[in-house]
Amino acid sequence: MNLFRPNIQKMTGYTPGKQPKGGGFVKLNTNENPYPPSPKVIAAIKHAACETLRLYPDPLATAAREKAAAVLGVKPAQVLMGNGSDDLLTMIIRAFVGPGDKVAFPYPTYSLYDVLVKIQDGISCPVDFPEDYSLPNNIVVKGAKVTFIANPNAPSGTMIHASELSDLAERVSGALVIDEAYVDFADFNCLHLVNRHPNVILLRTLSKSYSLAGIRSGFAVSTEEIIAGLMKVKDSYNVDRLGMVATLAALDDVKRMRRNAEKIKASRSCLTEALVNLGFAVYPSESNFVLAKCPRWLDAEATYEDLERRRILVRYFKQRMVDDCLRITVGTPREINALLKALAEITGPFAPKPSRK
Ligand SMILES: *Cc1c(COP(=O)(O)O)cnc(C)c1O
Repeated sequence: MNLFRPNIQKMTGYTPGKQPKGGGFVKLNTNENPYPPSPKVIAAIKHAACETLRLYPDPLATAAREKAAAVLGVKPAQVLMGNGSDDLLTMIIRAFVGPGDKVAFPYPTYSLYDVLVKIQDGISCPVDFPEDYSLPNNIVVKGAKVTFIANPNAPSGTMIHASELSDLAERVSGALVIDEAYVDFADFNCLHLVNRHPNVILLRTLSKSYSLAGIRSGFAVSTEEIIAGLMKVKDSYNVDRLGMVATLAALDDVKRMRRNAEKIKASRSCLTEALVNLGFAVYPSESNFVLAKCPRWLDAEATYEDLERRRILVRYFKQRMVDDCLRITVGTPREINALLKALAEITGPFAPKPSRK
């Protein structure tokens, strides 16, 4: 007996990075922040873990919307809270994409976009990035209801300039979703495009820069019209009481987030330089991870497996264009040293001997 719609039967679900049980791993595979969240967040959650949990949360997450709006300098009616930004991606696809509708995005990028399109029985239109991960020339797909740009992009860590995306917003037929999950590790963002174009939706998350992947909180910023429309398709109580107070407390401590982001940016430079010295080619990263292309004499998948045996987790994608690369989250200096030591041991026997003059 097959109860599933044909598109669900055919598709494969999203494959998340490994979350190993038990400790003892250097975990550089899912772009979590290596530093703890603000103590204010932990205190707020403890305070909220009380009798009032029997009550539903505010369906509109009003306080969090107001807080996020104040931090970003937009109107509260331009903000929608989500159970992580994945929840907002779901709402966007639900609201804009029906069976047979096209959705465009560059390839390779965040693989959840494609999964959500397939759930909706839409048509994914991936457009290959050029080798330098600049905006693909043919990214404008005729009739696309949504175009996704992760900026910085995952898994490349690279970024497309705001002026190019502003231009793109004019050229696409439907919504332009700019997924800024990693933007706090970058030198600029695209927030200003929201008030310039009627079709831009910006996504932010507390998972990466605010060290709150475990809480599931993110928000969308767009026009009041788009936010009101998205509101209609959201789960009724998509932000729970603990997530709500955590969000408020996190956004009250932007300073700590910035401090951690600066530490990570400094570590990113050190990691990049060391990987280059080991023979890797590293794409210029504006995020909290780097995409390192293995030298020709080193097999990426075997290296990933060897690292795992040494209890160091990085991400390997067995897919076109990135199957010779490792995606490595920027951890603490200690974690980075452990990784580099292991990589030096792994690559040592294979590395070409320095040529004698
Ligand atoms: C991590 C990530 C997200 C998801 O963030 P959550 O808020 O944890 O759901 C969205 N987009 C990209 C590109 C990401 O890397």
